[in-house]
Amino acid sequence: MQIIDAHLHLFAAGSEADEMARAVGLENSTAYLKDYFAAHDFTHGIVMSNRSLNPARHCYPDFLHYCIGLDGIVSGHYDAREMEALVEANLERPNCVGIKLYPGYHPVTITDPCFDFVYRLAEKYDKPVAVHTGMTAHPRASLRHCHPLTMDEAAVRHPNVQFIMCHFGNPFLSDAAAVLEKCPNVAADLSGLLEGPIHLQAYLQEQSGYVFLLKTWIAYVCDYRRFLFGTDFPAVNFSDYASFIQTLIPKQHWADVFFNNANRIYHLGLPTGN
Ligand SMILES: [Zn+2]
Repeated sequence: MQIIDAHLHLFAAGSEADEMARAVGLENSTAYLKDYFAAHDFTHGIVMSNRSLNPARHCYPDFLHYCIGLDGIVSGHYDAREMEALVEANLERPNCVGIKLYPGYHPVTITDPCFDFVYRLAEKYDKPVAVHTGMTAHPRASLRHCHPLTMDEAAVRHPNVQFIMCHFGNPFLSDAAAVLEKCPNVAADLSGLLEGPIHLQAYLQEQSGYVFLLKTWIAYVCDYRRFLFGTDFPAVNFSDYASFIQTLIPKQHWADVFFNNANRIYHLGLPTGN
């Protein structure tokens, strides 16, 4: 089975990502990822970028596309006009397949006027807007600003924009499912539901209630064409995480969830081999 990882991160060597990757048996480098992907059915990856809007800082090998990440939108790095020009310069590049927003890490929701230009550009270039939703990686963040219900209002205001609800709003699963059920322009990636090394059988037993809820709310949406596999590397091991997601998705939908949906929604244009 071909697999697209529709949500991963790359950080500079020497950062804490080195340690995170090592903790899950991997290495934080594109050279390592290239070999690993080739050996494990991973055809392609989409990097959710961090840190800089400068297109020159986003050069990736052929097996990776990227979403330009606005994690600095309210940090004062750029003025509004400069930021819009830089985001557009990224979207003009074929290997930039979308925009990633990081609400919650800043106390601002995705309906704030500071994001209006994002939706204008997403529509102009027909590229999705991926949004962090649900639990955050550190306690200083604000869950209210990245709650999945915030996407309902944005999706209604911008019906021609394709939204990706990253992490399926976890653990606000019923709210996330309601937004997908209601809004046809919202899909969800299943990245980042776990973190660290995975001992799958023990985990499935210990967290059987949570796993049941995940399966329940994914199935409730009744549309496996709107769920995308993603890992949130370096938070997890690619293959172990793929095994976990396979337990949540009925086998007849694996080809869609692990490959076809990301290929279609992010317009990757990859050949479907099997
Ligand atoms: Zn992420």
